[in-house]
Amino acid sequence: MYLISACLAGKPVRYDAKAYHYDAIQQLIAQQLAITACPEMLGGLACPREPAEICGGSALDVLAGKARVLTRQGGDVTQAFISGAYKALELAQRHQVTAAVFKENSPSCGRHFIYDGSFRAAKQPGAGVAAALLLQHGFAVLSEQDFFARLADRKSTRLN
Ligand code: SF4
Repeated sequence: MYLISACLAGKPVRYDAKAYHYDAIQQLIAQQLAITACPEMLGGLACPREPAEICGGSALDVLAGKARVLTRQGGDVTQAFISGAYKALELAQRHQVTAAVFKENSPSCGRHFIYDGSFRAAKQPGAGVAAALLLQHGFAVLSEQDFFARLADRKSTRLN
């Protein structure tokens, strides 16, 4: 069972109420091989909402109370991000998820990259808060690019 960022599954839960549409992900859901979650909305944030970035440290620092998640206007949404991350973890544990497929660059779901806290669209290596919590608890977390690359590998192996 996969746990997939809800915005990758066509659900309009992004901060700007937009979503992404991928056939491969829709197929997993139709085959009941995946569940979806939006950690930010699980944490109680609205949609649409102000964009937020991790400021002053890493996602692990946020989880340890040493860094914050702030909106562009300076609102502190740290607790909502932490609460949403724990709810996503609970879902992963309850559904015996084997891997999460999370949206790259998000302050919650980013796997390899997140925005750097400057609100200038600059990215830096690092994970989002929910991704970091799942990794900390031993779950495999893939970005959508990792997932599509894995699918392509499987297809080419079958063809060879
Ligand atoms: Fe929600 Fe994660 Fe998508 Fe952001 S990236 S909208 S937190 S599912």
